[in-house]
Amino acid sequence: MIVAIDGPAGAGKSTVARRLAERLGFRYLDTGAMYRAVTWLAMQRGLPLGDGAPLGELASANPVTFDESGRVSIAGTDVTASIREARIDRQVPVVARHPEVRLVMRERQRELAKQGDVVIEGRDIGTVVAPDAEVKVYLNADAATRARRRQAERPDIGGDALATDLRLRDESDAARMRPAPDAEQIDTTGLEVDDVVAQIEQLVQTRLAASPR
Ligand code: C5P
Repeated sequence: MIVAIDGPAGAGKSTVARRLAERLGFRYLDTGAMYRAVTWLAMQRGLPLGDGAPLGELASANPVTFDESGRVSIAGTDVTASIREARIDRQVPVVARHPEVRLVMRERQRELAKQGDVVIEGRDIGTVVAPDAEVKVYLNADAATRARRRQAERPDIGGDALATDLRLRDESDAARMRPAPDAEQIDTTGLEVDDVVAQIEQLVQTRLAASPR
């Protein structure tokens, strides 16, 4: 079974998706980390970020890998910490908007999705990567809540800069931030992580009851 969890930055995707995967005993796939890792490598190699073809080649030649504990590597380097830096936050939508890059990532994500039960989080999972996912959820939250959550993860960035970064990223990601028509939309503003996880678990159980395996 595929559980697709989409939504903007700060909507609670990662925390919810990780905990849900743990509770269900499913694998967890963070597609944002994949785009982040390719962005990190492109910057490391000094590639121009406005040029799609070489970035697509870079992504194709350097598959992102996750180890058992979720550590992220690309081109032989563990980038788990570096892909969370503010400079990557700012540049990743620039890289992610190239169709050449998206094509490579989509194929790789589909391959990884095929390897058994999985919770996948991203922006376009329910719409593009896994349109036939058995459960689709779109998480959102109001702007102040999203900024506050991001601030907790990036204590080194000032509040104003962070709100601006979030807004710019939303604008760049807007084309991919549509909920799938059949996604369950959950506004996580004011909800505890466990409440959101419980809601999604319920959807999974309902789905399993409808078509037992
Ligand atoms: O989810 P996260 O904040 O780590 O995603 C980082 C960026 O990667 C997003 O802002 C977006 O530009 C890109 N992304 C994407 N499609 C996905 C996942 C992430 O374009 N499925």
